Amino acid sequence: MTNRMAILWFRQDLRLDDNPALLAASRSGLEILPLYIHDDFAPGSWKIGGASRWWLHNSLQSLNARLNARILFQAGDTRAVLSGLIERFKPAALFYNRCYEPWNRNLEKNLADLFKRLGIVAQSFNASLLNEPWDIKKSDGTPYSVYTPYFRASMQKLNEPKRPQNAPDHIRFKEDQDSPPLESLNLLGKTPWYKKLEPLWSPGEPGAREALDRFLKNHLKNYAQERDRPDLNATSALSPHLHFGEISPRRVLWETRKNAALNKSEGGAEKFISELLWREFSNHLLHSHPDMAEQPIKAKFSRMEWRNDKEALAQWKRGQTGIPIIDAGMRQLWQTGWIHNRVRMIVASLLVKNLGIDWREGERWFWDCLLDADLANNAAGWQWVAGCGADAAPYFRIFNPVAQARKFDPEGKYIRAFVPELEKLPTENIFEPWTAPSPILSAAGVNIGQNYPAPIVDLKVSRQKALEAYAQIK
Ligand SMILES: Cc1cc2nc3c(=O)[nH]c(=O)nc-3n(C[C@H](O)[C@H](O)[C@H](O)COP(=O)(O)OP(=O)(O)OC[C@H]3O[C@@H](n4cnc5c(N)ncnc54)[C@H](O)[C@@H]3O)c2cc1C
Repeated sequence: MTNRMAILWFRQDLRLDDNPALLAASRSGLEILPLYIHDDFAPGSWKIGGASRWWLHNSLQSLNARLNARILFQAGDTRAVLSGLIERFKPAALFYNRCYEPWNRNLEKNLADLFKRLGIVAQSFNASLLNEPWDIKKSDGTPYSVYTPYFRASMQKLNEPKRPQNAPDHIRFKEDQDSPPLESLNLLGKTPWYKKLEPLWSPGEPGAREALDRFLKNHLKNYAQERDRPDLNATSALSPHLHFGEISPRRVLWETRKNAALNKSEGGAEKFISELLWREFSNHLLHSHPDMAEQPIKAKFSRMEWRNDKEALAQWKRGQTGIPIIDAGMRQLWQTGWIHNRVRMIVASLLVKNLGIDWREGERWFWDCLLDADLANNAAGWQWVAGCGADAAPYFRIFNPVAQARKFDPEGKYIRAFVPELEKLPTENIFEPWTAPSPILSAAGVNIGQNYPAPIVDLKVSRQKALEAYAQIK
């Protein structure tokens, strides 16, 4: 006999606003048991990294507080946990929102069979993307591999976007449900390294909405001009909120358009929406290339011979390369769990092209350290920089980190914020301190090789070597 209750399975949709599974569950008239399963098995080698675990813990805490502490927390193999719960509660229905990582897609396929066998009515929805990855197709029915036509095709569908739906007024919870505490998921390790993140971020739905409102009010108008400047903090910092589904992309799109119409910020809004569409495009690519976190989309790149230089990799990770913009970026990642997009491109380019190290090493480091670590966006970002992606920067276009820093951090403010050893250097010397005259270095208290490293790589020579390596696989 089934109960008059339903399971609402939360995943990467940790919000009440514009959450289709939650709305369907609350409209079903059934009592609802909210559930969260932490599964470290299904993702295989892509189980979530350290920084994301901190975010997830806090996001779940926030969601649980908004749901009167009703979430049933479970850890383990999703299929086994769900079968056990279905056996125990005999729910009339199960509601969830879809996820798009290959392991989640496989899991959903397997679960569909299980639900059928157990006679459960399961309904799934799209809560994470503006368009389903498979909905946008070329006229011949094949997926896009170039961003611009993908963008145009997507925008046609978004001209009349669906209005985001508010959270339900009332949720009828299943009563008398004991739940193991959130701590039973063991998301936080024993060492409280994450204390440094607490003053910087507000995981959870209210924090996501605040971040959106702050961005729209202060930065949307000039987004197109300022988004590449790491010294200005002019982007939304919504990426971890979007990854964990604390805000829906439909809500972001809707509020952006509303704000742009009121404040005549069309240029900024257009650019911002096009960045949201890069997120969609990454998911579109992941759908057509499910192994793209591990394999280059352009097959010839599997012939590339990467350098196995553990020391250089460690110096890059620690922000000790002796190239200030690189060190600032890698230290920003370590200290704050996030890096500005322009700097992600610069540090990735140095690793792959100047140091000749496999892009997958960088991808893994980002996976562990980023609060917004996202399989689709991370893989697409790394493949883009490495030149092996679908619509990537050509391999032979190699960023010069000094020129990039001069252009995008013109006063050296970003470098000074994360590389305090160089704080006192005059701006004209801060981008390549190894070329500064000795008296200037001494006056600023900088001793290259002593309190700040000499560059670990010669930018000109390594650039040439990278071009030669590319010629080998062309
Ligand atoms: C090597 C590399 C690795 C990356 N890894 C990740 C990752 O793991 N997770 C992640 O969310 N993004 C990743 N990105 C994309 C991008 O750097 C971040 O999404 C962005 O910096 C987040 O900051 P924001 O929220 O202030 O962005 P905004 O400029 O405010 O943009 C708004 C939103 O659009 C999306 N977005 C913006 N730029 C991109 C982009 N280039 N690709 C895909 N989506 C984008 C994000 O969801 C972002 O929150 C990576 C980029 C590179 C070059």
